[in-house]
Amino acid sequence: ITLAPTQPIRITGGEYYLLKLLEGRPTSKGQNIRVEMLGSPMEFVVTSTRPAGPVIADRRTEITISEKPAAEKLERVPRVTYEDIGGLKREIGLVREMIELPLRHPELFQKLGIDPPKGVLLYGPPGTGKTMIAKAVASETDANFISISGPEIMSKYYGESEKQLRDIFKDAEDNAPSIIFIDEIDSIAPRREEVTGEVERRVVAQLLALMDGLQARGQVIVVAATNRPNAVDPALRRGGRFDREIEIGVPDKNGRLEILHVHTRGMPLAQDVNLEKIAEVTHGFVGADIASLCKEAAMHALRAIMPEIDIEKEIPQEVLDKLQIRMADFEDALKNIEPSAMREVFVEVPNVHWDDIGGL
Ligand code: ADP
Repeated sequence: ITLAPTQPIRITGGEYYLLKLLEGRPTSKGQNIRVEMLGSPMEFVVTSTRPAGPVIADRRTEITISEKPAAEKLERVPRVTYEDIGGLKREIGLVREMIELPLRHPELFQKLGIDPPKGVLLYGPPGTGKTMIAKAVASETDANFISISGPEIMSKYYGESEKQLRDIFKDAEDNAPSIIFIDEIDSIAPRREEVTGEVERRVVAQLLALMDGLQARGQVIVVAATNRPNAVDPALRRGGRFDREIEIGVPDKNGRLEILHVHTRGMPLAQDVNLEKIAEVTHGFVGADIASLCKEAAMHALRAIMPEIDIEKEIPQEVLDKLQIRMADFEDALKNIEPSAMREVFVEVPNVHWDDIGGL
């Protein structure tokens, strides 16, 4: 039985777990298998069986884990467009120039004789759209989007973190143009002062080496995100690896209004809904808060008509027609949602040393 992971991750030594799971069960091509491996859920697809299935595995069945099926790759590129992002016009402009331009037109950089950026660091509070922006550039440029999370990489067995990074970079280069998205980079590459372990040092060294190796191509760009920019190893920031940084901040009133428009797109809003007003009173809300607010308002509207619904029967058209989201639903939803800015207090201790100041 041959299986391929549906995530862009190569697995070593998972055959045993899979055989245990498949033993005694009919298995056929195309079937999806979910399994807990080393504490995290993984999904596989059966790519072939011999003989042609369904087959029933026993202890002697040979399990092969192959690379991710090619067809799966581009399908998994999240379809996020710039229109799905509210506010952040200036930031999107910067991202397009730094990431989209070199991916689409490496010849411009060749002609100028300069290296295109290899890494871009997006920083700002959680839920402000960093991941969305990275996904949007990938889908708008038809680039592969390979996403890894810092803590996930660091939780690997000894030596596996570096190997996984190497595999990811190889995958990205083989399928260029690609964007490698590293979420929570601060956990892979914390400031040296914070580093106690040898493992972190080796992983940072590996990441630096891999990024340096990318130089020639320009068709693979690493986008990293963090909400603790000051906790990131300065070697990554200054050394030219992540030579561009873009702040993705908490939206202002206009930004919030745009995000409200995005998240109420297609919702049946009643006449009395005043998005301007909502934008005004949601100071401190980030994109993720506004998304929850809209969903909560919709659920509130739904609860209001629940008494008229018989779950087991078809819903009459006149009840469907009545289903509208009113200003009162938003007002009630607001009582239940606290902006993340209030939940998380950011204390960024300025980490500047005398050595960081030159020439004075
Ligand atoms: P981050 O990576 O900064 O933590 P995400 O990009 O994962 O945040 O955002 C989480 C969710 O919040 C998104 O899926 C989206 O629904 C919503 N969101 C965040 N920022 C925006 C934005 N600027 N415009 C529209 N939706 C947003």
